[in-house]
Amino acid sequence: MTIFYGFDGRTYANITNKCPCDCVFCIRKGGDSIVGNDPLWLEHEPTSDEIKQAFDKLDAGSIEEVVFCGYGEPMERAAVLLDTAKYIKSKGDISIRVNTNGLVRLIDPSFDISTLKGAVDSVSISLNAPDSKSYCEITRPSFGEKAFDEMLKFAADVKSLGIKTGFTVVDMGGMAEMIEKCRALSQSMGIPLRVRQYVTDNENYR
Ligand code: SF4
Repeated sequence: MTIFYGFDGRTYANITNKCPCDCVFCIRKGGDSIVGNDPLWLEHEPTSDEIKQAFDKLDAGSIEEVVFCGYGEPMERAAVLLDTAKYIKSKGDISIRVNTNGLVRLIDPSFDISTLKGAVDSVSISLNAPDSKSYCEITRPSFGEKAFDEMLKFAADVKSLGIKTGFTVVDMGGMAEMIEKCRALSQSMGIPLRVRQYVTDNENYR
């Protein structure tokens, strides 16, 4: 089973296939893996020890950044993510990034956001849309309309911890006006926005 995989010169950690969303652009709809890697559907959710053992098989000295991304929402397993992120950081000068939908406090209301500090260097949050209605149409969160405001609050709280924070939006075409509104919202929060390419064929990404 593939816990770590490489793409575009980076090392990605795949620690869960769980996710409370069903994004219309989800890369998981485009195949079982990404550009030549083995399937990213996990046989089971790996334990912290399994993740650490898988990391130990890599050449830590050649890794600058590990991105917790998954074929799922990595913060579904926040405790495991934090434990393994700290382990990875103990193995070298390695940055940790988390790509997340920002809904961890709806997944687990007891999650303490301050625990990210020291374990995670940057967080990329899927903004996806400039308002709750279009967010729900694109992201289709199981939590319903409250998810949009929670995602924004998560982003603001991560930023206030001094962790590098960014937003993303996926350009599926015909979205110029929506992307401009996303940009305005991002700017109002002092958080940079990255417009991502819409990928429909994972094996021929680029
Ligand atoms: S949050 Fe990520 S893993 Fe979940 S459905 Fe959306 S794109 Fe897919």
